[in-house]
Amino acid sequence: MKFCFIVGTRPEVIKVAPVYKFFLQMNEEAFVVATAQHREMMDMMLNVFEIKARYDLNVMTHDQTLDDVVASIMQRLPKILQIERPDILLVQGDTTTALSCALCAFHWKIPVAHIEAGLRSHDLYDPFPEEMNRRVIDAVSEYLFAPTNKAKENLIKEGIEENRIHVVGNSVVDALKIIKEKFDLHEIRSRTVPFERYILLTLHRRENIGERMISILSGVARFAMEHDVHVVLPVHKNPKVRQIVFETVRANHRFFLMEPVDYVTFLALLEGCWFVVTDSGGVQEEAPSFGKFVVVARRTTERPELIESGFGALAGASEESVYRAMVSASEVELDSVENPFGDGKTSERIWRILRSVTR
Ligand code: UDP
Repeated sequence: MKFCFIVGTRPEVIKVAPVYKFFLQMNEEAFVVATAQHREMMDMMLNVFEIKARYDLNVMTHDQTLDDVVASIMQRLPKILQIERPDILLVQGDTTTALSCALCAFHWKIPVAHIEAGLRSHDLYDPFPEEMNRRVIDAVSEYLFAPTNKAKENLIKEGIEENRIHVVGNSVVDALKIIKEKFDLHEIRSRTVPFERYILLTLHRRENIGERMISILSGVARFAMEHDVHVVLPVHKNPKVRQIVFETVRANHRFFLMEPVDYVTFLALLEGCWFVVTDSGGVQEEAPSFGKFVVVARRTTERPELIESGFGALAGASEESVYRAMVSASEVELDSVENPFGDGKTSERIWRILRSVTR
């Protein structure tokens, strides 16, 4: 059996890496095709996990459109499929890379396995184009690896046969295990921030830019002052975010503003914080692996498992609601709460399932 793993962006590498590595450990014939949809971030993550792609489609161009990415991948991937003739092609998540490669494999009658199947916002245009990508990838996939029961329910509601769906957890938990073993996060943290107790804050989402972001920052500032605690904030590169952050909290000595940090440093900050306030999607999935509570500074989340498990609270985006959610977060005990995204054995489950069906 030959397995082809696809990556193109940072989150794909994070979630594919542990699965690919597990397949190699089990002496499977497996290789990676990198589309390089996001050249720099993808390469950085491949280095972190020490993965070398056998093929690099190098599709990224200046000012690329979604159509450019789809067209380049669909022109370049078939040649590789013809040379390698993999038995199964694995894609992850909801990127244009995952969509294009899944479609190509479908055309070539190579069964597709979708890691992180079944996530839905139920709004075709939000997130765009990811919600459409998810639906199309799931429609053409033979093996749907859903991270949670909720994701499985979404697929069943769409009429996908139950025997194609396997609930396996989210491989991000496996990835974080690898990183914790490989890096001394404590040492990295002590080089990065000068204090022991802090709140970790990240803000970048488009719908929060403007008045909402000012309100969130004001709620955090109020909590920090009352509880005499620092706030570590890696400031997103988006100029609009930077302007709001600098105008609202640069003069506040409780805020420790930094440039965005590399992934391992970010995880070191996550591991050491008291709790997190964020509007990010990825951070919501990562925090439970470090036993950290998340105040989600948004009105909705496509990861309701975080809230239902007790690992997070949906705080909205007003000063008062964020402040109150932080007060509640400061009193939460998480010792006996189970990580809703898995136990770090997702890679092994995927391997067992594919081995058993493809023998
Ligand atoms: N992250 C990082 N450095 C930072 C801030 C975030 O490496 O300074 C990571 C974080 O761990 C998460 C990802 O970037 O995996 C989230 O990116 P972002 O919040 O920009 O996007 P989203 O998750 O909402 O798509």
